[in-house]
Amino acid sequence: MTAAHPGLDRERRRVAVRGLVQGVGFRPFVHTLAGELGLAGTVTNTGEGVLVEVEGSPDALDAFCRRVAGDAPPLAQVHEVEHAPLAATGATGFRIVPSRPDGARATLIPPDTAVCADCLAELADPADRRHRHPFISCTNCGPRHTIVTGLPYDRANTTMAGFPLCPDCAREYADPADRRFHAQPVACHACGPRLALTVPGRPDLGGEQALAEARRLLADGAVLAVKGIGGYHLACDARDAAAVALLRRRKRRGRKPFALMARDLATVEGLLPVDPVERELLTGPVRPIVLLRRTGLPVPEGVAPGSPDLGVMLPYTPLHHLLLAAPGPDLLVMTSANLSGEPIVTEDREALERLAPLVDGWLGHDRPIHVPCEDSVVRVVDGEQLPLRRSRGYAPLPIPLPVPVRPALAVGGDLKNTFALARDGYAWLSGHIGDMDDLATLRAFDRAVEQLGTVSGVRPELLVADRHPGYRSLRHAERTAAGRPVHRVQHHHAHIAAVMAEHGLDGSRPVLGVAFDGTGYGADGAVWGGEVLLADYDGFRRLAHLGYVPLPGGDAAVERPYRTALAHLRAAGLPWLPELPPVRACGAAELGLLERQLERRLNCLPSSSMGRLFDAVSSLAGVCHRAGYEAQAAIELEAAACGFGRADGPGAGPTARADDGYAFGLSARAGGWTADPGPVLAAVVADVTAGAPAGLVAARFHRAVADLVRRSCAAVRDRYGATTVALSGGVFANALLSSACASGLGEDGFTVLRHRRVPPNDGGLALGQLMVAARSTATREE
Ligand code: ZN
Ligand code: ZN
Ligand code: FE
Repeated sequence: MTAAHPGLDRERRRVAVRGLVQGVGFRPFVHTLAGELGLAGTVTNTGEGVLVEVEGSPDALDAFCRRVAGDAPPLAQVHEVEHAPLAATGATGFRIVPSRPDGARATLIPPDTAVCADCLAELADPADRRHRHPFISCTNCGPRHTIVTGLPYDRANTTMAGFPLCPDCAREYADPADRRFHAQPVACHACGPRLALTVPGRPDLGGEQALAEARRLLADGAVLAVKGIGGYHLACDARDAAAVALLRRRKRRGRKPFALMARDLATVEGLLPVDPVERELLTGPVRPIVLLRRTGLPVPEGVAPGSPDLGVMLPYTPLHHLLLAAPGPDLLVMTSANLSGEPIVTEDREALERLAPLVDGWLGHDRPIHVPCEDSVVRVVDGEQLPLRRSRGYAPLPIPLPVPVRPALAVGGDLKNTFALARDGYAWLSGHIGDMDDLATLRAFDRAVEQLGTVSGVRPELLVADRHPGYRSLRHAERTAAGRPVHRVQHHHAHIAAVMAEHGLDGSRPVLGVAFDGTGYGADGAVWGGEVLLADYDGFRRLAHLGYVPLPGGDAAVERPYRTALAHLRAAGLPWLPELPPVRACGAAELGLLERQLERRLNCLPSSSMGRLFDAVSSLAGVCHRAGYEAQAAIELEAAACGFGRADGPGAGPTARADDGYAFGLSARAGGWTADPGPVLAAVVADVTAGAPAGLVAARFHRAVADLVRRSCAAVRDRYGATTVALSGGVFANALLSSACASGLGEDGFTVLRHRRVPPNDGGLALGQLMVAARSTATREE
């Protein structure tokens, strides 16, 4: 029967695959799979994903539908496979047909991915036609997000559109059996982008000459601008103290740590210990900067003065590999080329102009960067990844949401801004944009909103911003709302909602949210930042907080922790003893002014900020009086607690004696608890005046804060019965504190949720804003 009527047991199906299925080698995979199963048909990219029509025996079709998700290529993420019957046509053969720019734009653009092992092997193979090609890539690796200019994801809609394929590349690109089939950034020496080295007063160099001269300059201690995937870096030899000092001076960087790029894993392991989770992050396809706790000082002090960590990454572009190859420097400083707080420089002309005072030369190329994308930063805390900046390698992958949302744009906060676009069950988070305090950042913000809007297909019906009336992000949202509502969400509520969302909580049960950060606009107009909330997505109740202390307002206070310390001493009724470090750090005239300011409460805001309390203690312990970058005083206090002083370097950790330490007062008030920092400050002063080392003070303070978290959660549980604690806010970038809180709460039987997909700092705010204000079921706004 079957032989006589071959059409009878044949079926045809239309299979729609949605998820991260473009730019990841999905169509060749489908082609191979169909071939293996003896199926006929076609596959194409649409604006919606990958659309397959397959024809063959029902068994083979079933196997196809199963394996199309189960056996997908490494970079793919299949979210949905939908199939519908069609009439069989009797067609034979399987073809990849041209992309169709239709569909509802539910497709996903892959993130930029580190050069893969296959490409690296070719890069090193003298017989390969891409030997030493600085732009080698394939379907499994290379730039994606930063080169996409439109959808569907095809070469014409990338910044590679200006590089017509040579006949050899064109053949590979068109051959379904080739590992470069439809790899959009594919190129070679003949047709690809070109390197150029620009050194003022000298003729430009290209190709191998450019590379060789750049390597020589770096070895000689020069500072170079190096064009990467998502922007320019400033690079110098990290083992050359003079070069590092030169870069720090030119960039007016203060003490802010520089990130490093090491030749290979062995180089990193020669610097400091690397645990298996860190190793996986370092060598994986994302290649973030991994903050590794240093145990000594394996690099010049100027790389990361006073920091408990070194931020290290491995090469992720072929150019990086060529630049760092032996012989020559095996460890480079690779810091984003920007001025403090501004977006990373991506345009060649801008780089030539704006970086001129900073560099001795530019190693660039002519592949345009369509959107900026900074390096991501992660650290490992208790064996889990904690993102501190979610950018290259993650963006623009969406985060699945536990409950659907209306099409919305959440604009995030003013510092470390990232925004989010969302609809249905997904949120697309932008990369790190910058601090929203200048025009360049706002422009970068608008460009990024537009690009992510194209990629995600989100047409926002509403906007979400912070409640702070002075936030530029809020004002920007209001300016661009064009009649759409702008919902406003309390800062710490958003922090907690963000942790809940990434852990998949549907919000049906409230959590205890511990939100510790530097500053956030409180519901009562005060500066909040040491908050324990009973929260779900709908709302929150402030159960406990640090007692209000009037702190001198403005940026000056944040930049000068000694002023915060003095304000805290005064609020605690402690005298400004002349031998105390913050008193010594403050000039006599300024002391007088500050005293009058605090007395009259001029430009002073009541504050419950935990971040500022860390600043105060950092200054009191003599660790840091002036912060040149955000959270510097707290970071150096953490370093001191880990046994790293500002000047004394690594030593035996004093944590052994930290237990007999300080304790916050915790007193019940109407509807909650207030934590009084006074007793802690008094104990700090007693230790400091008795000559206790900074490390001991720092360690005892960390313990006291962890203990406060434990005590307030226990107190609150007894009354409200919540058993899950969510930790968020920038203070929880502190690994020592995060660990101590989690272990204490764990001992008390709490389930502890910490960030693992978005940062605890304001870089994670937008996700929480969405969850509070844009849920489809949201019945009220705050
Ligand atoms: Zn590759
Ligand atoms: Zn070519
Ligand atoms: Fe915050």
